[in-house]
Amino acid sequence: MVVSIVGRGNANIVCVVDHDDTEVYRISVRFGQLSANNTYVQDNYKYIDSVVRNIGPIGDLLVPMRIQAVPAISELGYLAKSEGVAIDEEYMSCIVMPHLYAQQNIYKKLDHFNRVHFNEACDLVTWEFKPKWLYQSTDYCRNCSHNAWKGRGIGYCFLDEPSVILHEVFETQQQLPLPREFLDDITKYLSAPDNILQRLYAAQLQAKDDLALLMILRDVTCFLSWSQQTREISVKVVDVDLKPMEKLGHWKSTEAALSSLPNGMKRQRHDFGGTTHIN
Ligand SMILES: [Zn+2]
Repeated sequence: MVVSIVGRGNANIVCVVDHDDTEVYRISVRFGQLSANNTYVQDNYKYIDSVVRNIGPIGDLLVPMRIQAVPAISELGYLAKSEGVAIDEEYMSCIVMPHLYAQQNIYKKLDHFNRVHFNEACDLVTWEFKPKWLYQSTDYCRNCSHNAWKGRGIGYCFLDEPSVILHEVFETQQQLPLPREFLDDITKYLSAPDNILQRLYAAQLQAKDDLALLMILRDVTCFLSWSQQTREISVKVVDVDLKPMEKLGHWKSTEAALSSLPNGMKRQRHDFGGTTHIN
């Protein structure tokens, strides 16, 4: 087994196995023991398949996944071990899914929420982004206030007009060799009513009383893949994992900190298009 790492999250590692770059294996290193990681991966997979995949507005955009047991005595098992996971079971449960930017070998981190992958010819581009909190019930915008508080220097919100978002994300970056048509097509896509941001907003609204699900929907990653040849955009949603309870505590303390900021430091809540929310 030949393993090459293609991505890393806080609690997992994403790998291509045996040079087959049509799919990736994701291993969990969240817990110090393989048995705990296996239980988490299996519970998580069941939750995604039975709950997240059935959310009307975005369920059909969720990336297909399968769960696969890989022997712990393997390159993938050694990788987990090298990350501090004690091997206490014979098999490791992995989530296997399509490799969404296999043909785009150049990658650039644009800001805290955005990355772009493209190929040498720049005719295949994948934009990877986290829209965070779209539906909001506070009187301030959680995204804008949090970014200001953290001093991230981010001059847009995913609730802004598409042209504002795309200008701030892509055009303030120097020397990104992306074709004009890419930005034109993405702008057109995000201006249509059924786009991923509108759908994610609807899903968050639908889940507003289910905190476990809401926390997932506020932390998904979206992949928009564009081809110059077809001028089509394909959309996939990933990172729909159950959040551990420690994260809930962290979110609650962030929320408390944000709500106690003086009014001048809070950013007003706004709807899509930047209009102030009134209700
Ligand atoms: Zn905002």
